[in-house]
Amino acid sequence: MTGKTPGQLALAHVPGLHAYTPGLQPKGPGWVKLNTNECPYPPSPRVAQAVIAALGDGGEDLRLYPDPSSSALREAVARTHGVAAANVCIGNGSDDILNLLVGCFCGESAAAAFMLPSYSLYPVLVGIRGGAASPIPLDRGMLLPFEQIAASDARILFLTSPNAPTGVGFPTSDIARILETFRGIVVVDEAYAPFARENALDLLAGHPRLVVTRTLSKAYALAGIRVGYALADPEVIGLLDRVRDSYNVSRLSQAAAVAALGDPDYYVGIIDKIKSTRDYYIDSWVSKRGWFTFPSEANFICTEPRDSRGLAGPAVARAALDFLFTRKVLVRHFPSDALTASFLRISVGSDDDMLVLEDTLDAWLKAPPNA
Ligand code: PMP
Repeated sequence: MTGKTPGQLALAHVPGLHAYTPGLQPKGPGWVKLNTNECPYPPSPRVAQAVIAALGDGGEDLRLYPDPSSSALREAVARTHGVAAANVCIGNGSDDILNLLVGCFCGESAAAAFMLPSYSLYPVLVGIRGGAASPIPLDRGMLLPFEQIAASDARILFLTSPNAPTGVGFPTSDIARILETFRGIVVVDEAYAPFARENALDLLAGHPRLVVTRTLSKAYALAGIRVGYALADPEVIGLLDRVRDSYNVSRLSQAAAVAALGDPDYYVGIIDKIKSTRDYYIDSWVSKRGWFTFPSEANFICTEPRDSRGLAGPAVARAALDFLFTRKVLVRHFPSDALTASFLRISVGSDDDMLVLEDTLDAWLKAPPNA
């Protein structure tokens, strides 16, 4: 019997989709991993204890579904930010929350706007739903194009602050200005806000169209458990809950996240250390070599390498990336956007990681060009 192939049976837009490209997760030892903005330090010791306790005797509690509304975790998030549990939706990573937002507010005739460059998952999520995408380009100055944003008739706007992959943070006053002029839902993706000077949390009260998303993957050293959340008006949270999988966050993840949020002092130390490593590396290493670097308020830096001849550009960035890779140092290159093609994004690692990075880049500078 002949019939249509799975590709022919799929919705018309699906075969043409491009999946999100995650950073490499290498197997085997010896890698210096500065490519996915993970935390170089372990999570609070309370996390492992909580996960073991959540297993129950011999793992028997894993028979049971998780709490579908992640109640204890929502309370913990609410306490952390001084809001009510009704203002919180928990996701399987903040990527899950972003997907729920697209599911609620984006479709064929309801566009989603986002900056270029910014987090490249937004267009992927919009594409999966067959939604309309409305990219708004930034220029090298990385200032928000307020007029274009105000003129946009998109239903939802994703604004990454601090931005990825540049690390540039947008002041709260900029977000307030956008809320005055843009008429749709304003999502401020604050995955990196714990490393920033400002955030949009104070704007939540009084702005029912504002959604702030956060993650435990970066500052809380818990990328492996996949927990993120949205903070918003209860009306928005109610909409997200309508499109959310009922069991979107596992028992172990809920327990781990509650334990992490219960140990804020531990995390203050880690965050301070990452920020000071970042600032030291920018001031003492890249700037001294004349590499333009965006001012970073995140746990990574975005720098434009210059080779031994003083040249910069996409091919130079690629050569540095390849040289680092052959010496087992992983960083990230985003060649598809002209504004980032000559840059490398480097996650802030431990002191040891940063020393290996510096030595390897110095070796690259001494090697013949294109080595
Ligand atoms: N937003 C931004 C800007 C990110 O860079 C990331 C991490 N890749 C995320 C959201 C997603 O984080 P997670 O799903 O791990 O919470």
